[in-house]
Amino acid sequence: MTDEPLAPGLYIVATPIGNLGDITLRAADILARCDAIACEDTRVTAKLLRHLSLHKPLWRYDDYSSEVDRQRLLASMREKAIALVSDAGTPLISDPGYRLVQAAREAGIAITSLPGPSAAIVALTLSGLPNDRFLFAGFLPPKEKARADALAELAQVRATLIFYESAPRLVKTLAAIELGLPGRDVAVARELTKLHEECRRGPPQQLIDHYTAHPPRGEIVLLVGPPAERENTETDLDALLFAAMLHEKPSQAAAQVARATGMDRKMLYARALELKSQEHQTG
Ligand code: SAM
Repeated sequence: MTDEPLAPGLYIVATPIGNLGDITLRAADILARCDAIACEDTRVTAKLLRHLSLHKPLWRYDDYSSEVDRQRLLASMREKAIALVSDAGTPLISDPGYRLVQAAREAGIAITSLPGPSAAIVALTLSGLPNDRFLFAGFLPPKEKARADALAELAQVRATLIFYESAPRLVKTLAAIELGLPGRDVAVARELTKLHEECRRGPPQQLIDHYTAHPPRGEIVLLVGPPAERENTETDLDALLFAAMLHEKPSQAAAQVARATGMDRKMLYARALELKSQEHQTG
């Protein structure tokens, strides 16, 4: 570490997600040497600075800040070293900063990003779910129909899915997963890095039962394992499509089978139409 002044520009600084001991040496160094800190909630960042025995000007910023405020911040980055932090974890990850970074890049301002905690990655490593491919999907929509549509879109992704979720919505979201992504292994990672950290894994219904009996508190990451690796043979798929078409139109049957198998919905729809026309020819 050095007392040298920092070069002007934007420094994206990840901060702890609960345990203040998780601040990195480099994050502490940059926060100590920067000229000012752009942050979401000045009270939250002031607490972190007290922990580090630092005093810095704090400027409130989020993606809803006015264009004038953003331009003012960008102008100051030409002469000063400005750190960007969020309330917790890595800025921009379901947190403000995207517009600022985009604008800073367009304006040719020097930008660097300091790696550090992010709840999504902590949860992924803790869950024991496959991590060779994962998709971070942020918060699911709170409304039932929009949430079901979002899950239907994700059902085809052959990767572990990571969502941020709030405690009051957990059980409803687990029920939507049970319906929209049947047969998947799920993990609930709660209060990560804090005193009451837990990671509970199992089929959605088991987790629904547990969290109905013990309503969860605190912050939550929800993870859904990838669809089963089992190769669906043509005969399997035809049988599933036939079964679904007993009650549904081909398009809905294809969507249902796509959700259950993770297979491509358009391909299944084409096959459903073929099966339907064969049925008419022979029937
Ligand atoms: N930027 C942050 C990051 O990198 O993780 C995420 C900010 S987002 C607004 C806040 C959400 O992250 C919470 O609602 C929760 O879903 C998740 N989260 C943050 N801290 C957490 C923790 N300690 N344990 C579990 N989930 C956490």
